[in-house]
Amino acid sequence: MIVSLKPQADVARVKRELATRGLWIEAAEERLRDGRVTYVIGTYSAAVDARELLGIEGVDDVSVPTSGHPRVDRQGPVVDVDGVAIGAPGAPVFLCGPCAVESEAQITSLATRLSASGVQFLRGGAFKPRTSPYSFQGYGEAALRWMRRAAERTGMKVVTEALSEAEVPIVAEYADLVQVGSRNMQNYALLKAIGHTGRPVLLKRAMSATVEEWLLAAEYLLVYGARGVVLCERGIRGWDAGTRNLLDLGAVALLAHVHHVPIIVDPSHAAGRRDLVAPLARAALGAGAAGLLIETHDEPGAALSDGPQALLPDELGALLQSFSGMSS
Ligand code: PEP
Ligand code: MN
Repeated sequence: MIVSLKPQADVARVKRELATRGLWIEAAEERLRDGRVTYVIGTYSAAVDARELLGIEGVDDVSVPTSGHPRVDRQGPVVDVDGVAIGAPGAPVFLCGPCAVESEAQITSLATRLSASGVQFLRGGAFKPRTSPYSFQGYGEAALRWMRRAAERTGMKVVTEALSEAEVPIVAEYADLVQVGSRNMQNYALLKAIGHTGRPVLLKRAMSATVEEWLLAAEYLLVYGARGVVLCERGIRGWDAGTRNLLDLGAVALLAHVHHVPIIVDPSHAAGRRDLVAPLARAALGAGAAGLLIETHDEPGAALSDGPQALLPDELGALLQSFSGMSS
């Protein structure tokens, strides 16, 4: 944002007025030939309407650079997924289930228990992005079928990942919300293909993406036709092996309170260990998250992927119970 002052403006006073609105002058002032002074406001701690600044005595002009993601800016804080609102104030949404769908019996029994705890979205991987090619890769279309049936029986929605362009049509057929995994956030061909389906999307943050890169990836989805985009913070690459990733709650607060974008937090992949899931989940809602993605498994010790971070259904139920009555 660039603020120009009139030649006779009381500069110190204008600076104070800006600061009281959370606006801090970043670049050095520049005196133009006509006597006007120009300030570049680089960091701001709140979204402020430029028209309000024009009302400050001494301010001549305010220009706001055009955003690179106008569709995301216009979308607003709530995305509706077939009747389930993600981002409604005080109504966090829960997306839970195993890392990978392992059998029809497993997903059916988990779905029954999760829906009884108030979970709205059944999650589970059918096509898994595994770091090692020797790890379990998912049961593909069979897993999609099992999950869809289980969700329909229990009145839940399905969220699952499309790993490549080739799978987009089949995933869009079974999923209410299509997930873009962390490793694919900047796979623009995949974003375009998913956008074309018109489905709403859950866009996970890449391990080293900036917030701006993440918002631009969301813009891709909207430009190409997605009905809505919900972001998901799942931890970025840190240097401390004590947790699997570094949960960036600053970015969550920024997206929720300044950009007004619906943002889900995934404490499971962030922590990589189940003992930290509950405290991080509470912190996430405090920071402004619209909901939580939590991996849940009926037998974590026997899980085909991500067992160490999975909660048991009873543990998840107790955690969600602790949120009732709490408004975010
Ligand atoms: C997942 O949610 O199943 C997953 C693979 O997570 P991420 O893309 O965040 O690693
Ligand atoms: Mn996982």
